[in-house]
Amino acid sequence: MSEVNKKVIRSKIAIEPHYLQVDARIKNFEEVNLGYLNLEEVIKECERCFQCFKKSDPKIKPPPCMKYCPTHCNSREIIKSILEDNIEEALQIIYEHYPFPRCVERVCPGYCQQYCTAGKKGDPIQIPMIKRFLVDNYGLSQDFYECKMNTGKKVAVIGYGSQGQAQALNMRDSGVDLVIGLRQGKSWDRAKTDGMKVKTVKDAVTEADIIVTVTPSRKPIIMDDWISNGAHINAIGADAPGKQELDPNILKRANEELVEKN
Ligand code: SF4
Repeated sequence: MSEVNKKVIRSKIAIEPHYLQVDARIKNFEEVNLGYLNLEEVIKECERCFQCFKKSDPKIKPPPCMKYCPTHCNSREIIKSILEDNIEEALQIIYEHYPFPRCVERVCPGYCQQYCTAGKKGDPIQIPMIKRFLVDNYGLSQDFYECKMNTGKKVAVIGYGSQGQAQALNMRDSGVDLVIGLRQGKSWDRAKTDGMKVKTVKDAVTEADIIVTVTPSRKPIIMDDWISNGAHINAIGADAPGKQELDPNILKRANEELVEKN
């Protein structure tokens, strides 16, 4: 068979991550899940990837591993970079999506892996373990990356209690293009004192690509016709029965809705 026509046979079985043996575990507090131990194991696991929709623009037709990741991290491209021996580029993709990946790869439920195409007829690609190996072994000495936070997206934080203030200060210090949406009052004054750009809720929301709501409101304070198409909303304040920050019509036209139930 010619090279061109040769069918690629991919293993359906994942390269298993390593775990600390029980007799070692009972004598120390070391991490039990050791993940992958060398790059060869990682490459073998990457070779199982189908490179789903690789000819399509990922913004239009993302591979499942990217589509279902809350940060839309393109794991297909990370895997491709690893197979092309470009670890630096793989790391760049990871850090651009979350600046503390050592932690994330240990606690993330791994939707990328849960929805991986390879998992339909075999083991899914062990994506979190692959990424974890990279950041543990080739990542920065501190789990922080001075990524360019200003991606051209404008963020509106609605509410300026202790949580809103903490989020806003962190985002501002990271270089995010930020506006605070508030009613006139104590919070408005505090945000101004912190040097924030403050606008009415309507004005802040109307111009935002990403909206974070951190209010205790029990009736909608953000109306459907204020929200531009494609805006992303993190409604954090509505965390108990009876709380509601959003006009219900917003949810009716949302493309995707993710609800965290505690
Ligand atoms: S969904 Fe799975 S098989 Fe498809 S590109 Fe992502 S990691 Fe590879």
